[in-house]
Amino acid sequence: MKNLEALSEGFWGDLISAGDPGYEDARRVWNGNIDRRPALVARCRGVADVRHAVSFAGEEGLLVSLRGGGHSIPGYGTNDGGLVIDLSAMKGIRLDPDARTARAEGGVLWREFDRETQEFGLATTGGTVSNTGIAGLTLGGGLGWLMGKHGLTVDNLISADVVTADAEFHSVSADREPDLFWALRGGCGNFGVVTSFQYRVHPVGEILGGMVVYPLDQAADVARFYRDLCPTLPDEAEAHLGFLTEPQAGVPVVAMALGYNGPLDEGEKVLAPARQFGQPLADLVGPMPYVVRQTLLDEPTARNGLHRYWRSAFAEQLSDQFIDAAVDAASGFSSPMSFILFFYMHGAATRVPVADTAFSARRVQWDVDVMGQWDNPAESDRHITWVRATWDKMAPSLEEGAYINHVAADDPPEKVPASYGSNLNRLRQLKAQYDPTNLFRLNPNITPA
Ligand SMILES: Cc1cc2nc3c(=O)[nH]c(=O)nc-3n(C[C@H](O)[C@H](O)[C@H](O)COP(=O)(O)OP(=O)(O)OC[C@H]3O[C@@H](n4cnc5c(N)ncnc54)[C@H](O)[C@@H]3O)c2cc1C
Repeated sequence: MKNLEALSEGFWGDLISAGDPGYEDARRVWNGNIDRRPALVARCRGVADVRHAVSFAGEEGLLVSLRGGGHSIPGYGTNDGGLVIDLSAMKGIRLDPDARTARAEGGVLWREFDRETQEFGLATTGGTVSNTGIAGLTLGGGLGWLMGKHGLTVDNLISADVVTADAEFHSVSADREPDLFWALRGGCGNFGVVTSFQYRVHPVGEILGGMVVYPLDQAADVARFYRDLCPTLPDEAEAHLGFLTEPQAGVPVVAMALGYNGPLDEGEKVLAPARQFGQPLADLVGPMPYVVRQTLLDEPTARNGLHRYWRSAFAEQLSDQFIDAAVDAASGFSSPMSFILFFYMHGAATRVPVADTAFSARRVQWDVDVMGQWDNPAESDRHITWVRATWDKMAPSLEEGAYINHVAADDPPEKVPASYGSNLNRLRQLKAQYDPTNLFRLNPNITPA
């Protein structure tokens, strides 16, 4: 790196290379299966550092990773031999409670964002776990507990500050550089380094939420009931289905994860049929602050560094055969930390016209996820085999495209274009305009037109 000295002079954050204290932490990401060794991690303090790092990467012809919360499933936030532009130290959040807007920097995690906004009884659609980064999640679309009522995270994005591949700074919104703003709302990290996001926030107070848990011998009936329940739900309600292992008894169970983003008494009525179904092992649904609800699914994914292998796609229908395949796979979980999830997307998130944002998957559907998690790398083959075998059984009922943030590195190459769907051509044109050399290519990549 011939210009490293020049970079050091203009860079106020930390430059971390192999052998430096903190390098081991800086190179690692949430998915322990990813074991890469970048030449340099540039942990930025602000926009000026980001601009220096982007210029440096271009001049040196380096492979570039962008890192916010480090939760990319394929591990795009690190690489071998290149540069990581790491925003994890950029934690500024400024809420304007009167205007109901919040601006947050690219290193903020959802739990940090929620902490500030919930102090004033406000929130925007974030993910379903609290420790993902706002950056990667927002740029892929953002599916979360509030999406039925308030749309995806990108539907709540008002403006963004971004440093493009030529190191220029742009502050974009629906009025300022609307094309670039459009591309950021679903185009992942393809268009530049987003240094801050401005969101619309909504009043969200105490809500009804939690899980109803059933033994696996009721799972086929529960899943069919759940499938038929989903289309009857109002925008305020959320219902997801998870196959997982009950931690105390160590046996597979199925759970409906329910929520109601509105008055508690209305929620009690809407969720009553789900809570009265079958003979649950436990009904854990109750009133709780929104921030508590945001952490309910943190286990079993909270631990950084566990080994993970993930498959995902959208399903427009949950056929009996598909449900039976999921039940069968859950009865043979290769690890008690693995799970299968049906994540229901409906309401406001699905009513935005497809061409309004880069996020094209505006259908009522389920995001289906099969995730293997394990501790011991020596067991990797067994757990990866379980995920692949489960996927082979379920895949015939699934769409070609997935939620773009859930596409795995070893998915078939046509899955990325299928997931960008009908917006791909416009995205490719804009990629050619803003990143013609594909500097930002460690992502679900959009090749420049
Ligand atoms: C446990 C778990 C739960 C999840 N739950 C949900 C969920 O409920 N809803 C949902 O929508 N998604 C969910 N996801 C997917 C999640 O949205 C993606 O993994 C997302 O990429 C994580 O963002 P990050 O900032 O933490 O990741 P990082 O690894 O830091 O970044 C991922 C990628 O995003 C891009 N990126 C990151 N920061 C920037 C930036 N500042 N500027 C430009 N590009 C950037 C880059 O391409 C980067 O490689 C989940 C993932 C995990 C692992």
